[in-house]
Amino acid sequence: MLPTQCQTPVGPLVGMELPDLRNLLGPDQPAYRARQLYDALYRQQVANLSEISVLPKSLQNQLVTHTSMGLPAVERRFDSADGTRRYLLRLEDNRTVEAVLMPEEGRDTICISSQVGCPVDCKFCLTALMGLERNLTAGEIIGQVLYIVRDAGLELKSNRLNIVLMGMGEPLLNLEQVLKATRLLTDPSGIGLSQKRITVSTSGIVPKIAELGQAEVRPKLAISLNASSEAQRRELMPITRKYSLAALMEACRAYSLRPWEKLTFEYVLLGDVNDSDTDARRVVRLIANLNCKVNLIALNPGPGIPFETPAPERVTAFQHIVRQSVPCFIRKPRGLDIYAACGQLKRVAPDLLSLATEHQ
Ligand code: SAH
Ligand code: SF4
Repeated sequence: MLPTQCQTPVGPLVGMELPDLRNLLGPDQPAYRARQLYDALYRQQVANLSEISVLPKSLQNQLVTHTSMGLPAVERRFDSADGTRRYLLRLEDNRTVEAVLMPEEGRDTICISSQVGCPVDCKFCLTALMGLERNLTAGEIIGQVLYIVRDAGLELKSNRLNIVLMGMGEPLLNLEQVLKATRLLTDPSGIGLSQKRITVSTSGIVPKIAELGQAEVRPKLAISLNASSEAQRRELMPITRKYSLAALMEACRAYSLRPWEKLTFEYVLLGDVNDSDTDARRVVRLIANLNCKVNLIALNPGPGIPFETPAPERVTAFQHIVRQSVPCFIRKPRGLDIYAACGQLKRVAPDLLSLATEHQ
């Protein structure tokens, strides 16, 4: 494709797999050039085409002229008192997405977005208020990781790093790009993360769960359960009208886990709505006989979210009941002071400043 035939920019390069790069360079370049470019993009993680000194100058110049890297730029970074960093990243079309770094003792977790906004409309989630603007490309998905790793000076192969697709968006409505991003993140000759360290979370797009299960390279699966009965889930997550709770649980039972894998169920506790002992017992019945664990999240409040955070005693009482059947953890909210916690990601910088007055 390069050099002279193409007048319009090709790319972006980040997000291309080896066959894409071979295609881009065309038959005139020796086959190993694509491999060198791949190595520079993903193993060395260059931020700039001019850093790829292994390529001949002429090819480098062609790449600079005809392609773009496609890495995001930072629009703003918010640092929380608890060490959490929330990034507002600008894409090539000037739309912005959020990604969050949560450093902890012994491990770091990066929470990334899969869409700009989200079409799913869960009633407790701030991102839902944006609606869907567009899907992210595989390059834009991994670009968030590459940007943050560089910004925070993280070691990618250190086995400390976990990636969760739990930022903005419903990843299974963008499955093809999510799977491509996962292949790029896990390729041992590239970025080289383990599949065990990447998790995708879904609101329950039932047909896509089956499709995910068939992918050779795929993240671990977390299901946002968030309700204990069909009627309750329809209220809280209207997607349940399309894909019922019964069908979702059926898809979980049919999902083929790898030998090292457990399903995760996430459950957002909303005060006096889905947090009673009866709810906990119904959750236990729903997940009976599944190889799984449960993560409880007490609601992170936000403007325009018509629910209350339950008292800590309620959360532990719920945990106590579920824990009698399966491992059950309480997820600690991170970065609450900078609106970086689950369900609080909503877009552009001025929003953070005006968040308190919005949607009143
Ligand atoms: N769309 C996907 C992934 C992004 S949401 C999904 O729904 O699974 C990531 C997690 O945050 C989900 O488990 C969701 O239920 C939870 N969440 C959404 N809003 C929240 C809020 N206000 N407080 C706590 N958790 C929330
Ligand atoms: Fe979308 Fe997940 Fe928020 Fe629901 S909870 S609106 S699926 S991001």
